[in-house]
Amino acid sequence: MVLNCRHVWKEISNYIEGTVAPELRDEMEQHLAHCRHCAAVLDSTRNILYLIADERVFTLPAGYADRLHARLQEEIEGPPSGGV
Ligand SMILES: [Zn+2]
Repeated sequence: MVLNCRHVWKEISNYIEGTVAPELRDEMEQHLAHCRHCAAVLDSTRNILYLIADERVFTLPAGYADRLHARLQEEIEGPPSGGV
């Protein structure tokens, strides 16, 4: 099984929480080791989850994951301000 970025994003919160299957976890770790986009997603998602854990009053906006994914897709397909 070969994971693509979308698979990783879909499971990333489960990955952080440790609720993914061991085989999937291994696949994700391999992907994260060489994919900077997914590594960035991991960092961002982890920060959000830590905020929730630390600040009980922090409320996750509905649909945040969809917006995060849309933004990542933009970055992967080409940043609006140009670049490399
Ligand atoms: Zn990726």
